[in-house]
Amino acid sequence: MAKHAALSEKFIADEPRTDWHDETLWFVRQKRDKAAHGLPGWEQLRELASQIKNHTLSNLEKYLRQFEQQAKANGITVHWAADGDEHNKIIHDIIRKHNIEKIVKSKSMLTEECHLNEYLLHQGIEVVDTDLGERIVQFRKEPPSHIVLPAIHLKKQDVSETFHKYLQTEKGNNDPQYLTEAARQHLRDKFIQSELAITGVNFAVAETGGFVVCTNEGNADMGAHTAAVHIACMGFEKIIPKAEHLAVFLRLLARSATGQAITTYSSHFLKARRGQEMHIVIVDNGRSKQLGRKDFRNSLKCIRCAACFNTCPVYRRSGGHSYHTAVAGPLGSIINPNMDMKANADLPFASTLCGSCSNVCPVKIDIHEQLWKWRQVVVAEGYVDASKKTGMRGMAYILAKPGMYRFAGKMGRWVMRTFPFMINNKLNAWYKQREMPEVPKQSFRDWYLKNRGK
Ligand code: SF4
Repeated sequence: MAKHAALSEKFIADEPRTDWHDETLWFVRQKRDKAAHGLPGWEQLRELASQIKNHTLSNLEKYLRQFEQQAKANGITVHWAADGDEHNKIIHDIIRKHNIEKIVKSKSMLTEECHLNEYLLHQGIEVVDTDLGERIVQFRKEPPSHIVLPAIHLKKQDVSETFHKYLQTEKGNNDPQYLTEAARQHLRDKFIQSELAITGVNFAVAETGGFVVCTNEGNADMGAHTAAVHIACMGFEKIIPKAEHLAVFLRLLARSATGQAITTYSSHFLKARRGQEMHIVIVDNGRSKQLGRKDFRNSLKCIRCAACFNTCPVYRRSGGHSYHTAVAGPLGSIINPNMDMKANADLPFASTLCGSCSNVCPVKIDIHEQLWKWRQVVVAEGYVDASKKTGMRGMAYILAKPGMYRFAGKMGRWVMRTFPFMINNKLNAWYKQREMPEVPKQSFRDWYLKNRGK
């Protein structure tokens, strides 16, 4: 069984949790709709954002060089990393150079993609995630299940148990206020002691060499303002040409992500404060390859709002862990096959192709079309199950021959009528979740010829 299907089965085994997950994300989607419809010119804003991103991708080298030059002029040390390993080594070198032991990190999907925490842990260095949801999943040794709401698969009872185990809170106390206060006290202590803060980057501005980090908890600011060293990590697609473009993207990001008019903290970093050291690591990790794929380069326009996750009927009902990659959902299904096609060949098939993802995407990425195109690439490169391949070949053969098609239809109806158990059994994956339809007495063609034909 394909990995996504098998992992989804685990998630949906808990029916009440699946319903609740589905409803919670749909609630976020509805908040997004309300916020989007409340802003006049929403569609023009999407179009503008899409055009800015298209222009930036077509002039990427120019803007990245401009950003590097400006950032260096502001006193920031700029590093380039070809892949996740190089990214991790750069950060490790900075840690070693300063002999640092206490590290805090705010939410950065790039560091998840590069497996930074695991890499540093392997070197005996612990990183404390300071986003509340990230800290919860870090305690539980789980990856985030959503790029904006990392612990959305968990209920307050799960959080209570986790905090009781790791923060010694009262057993069975599920009060959100109480749990949040416990996390606050715990994290405040980590911030005060931290020597190094790692943050992500939402937007890097070529014109100024500065960057913007958006959080609702202020944890990126707390880390960056208390630690002596700040490292910001960004995938190279985070670049935008001008500061005025932030007015377009910040309005789209918050509304698309959570339905807020503006993210609580949109912090602008331009240079290190006196006595602090600031680094920025610009990472490729497969992005150049994706840029070179004509049908898929558009995916680099993504601003990581997760609107496509919240609307996707498959994601809402299968949970983020079923995608077995750092970035789940429809977005993960179009970027991960590029990174490792063999490991992620199942993901483009984890979709109904309903197009709701493309419909909500604030930068107009043709997500569902890319999913459909990835399926073709995956099949052409031989990464589908032998059973599926054989089945599809058989189907293509039958569909190409009208006589054969009519004969197969007749045989199929006869088998389903005479030996229904051959189809309606647990070995048939299709039957597991569905009732088989009642078998018609005749085909549509026969009916048509009798009633409408000559
Ligand atoms: S693909 Fe579009 S909708 Fe999905 S996370 Fe990226 S910007 Fe948001």
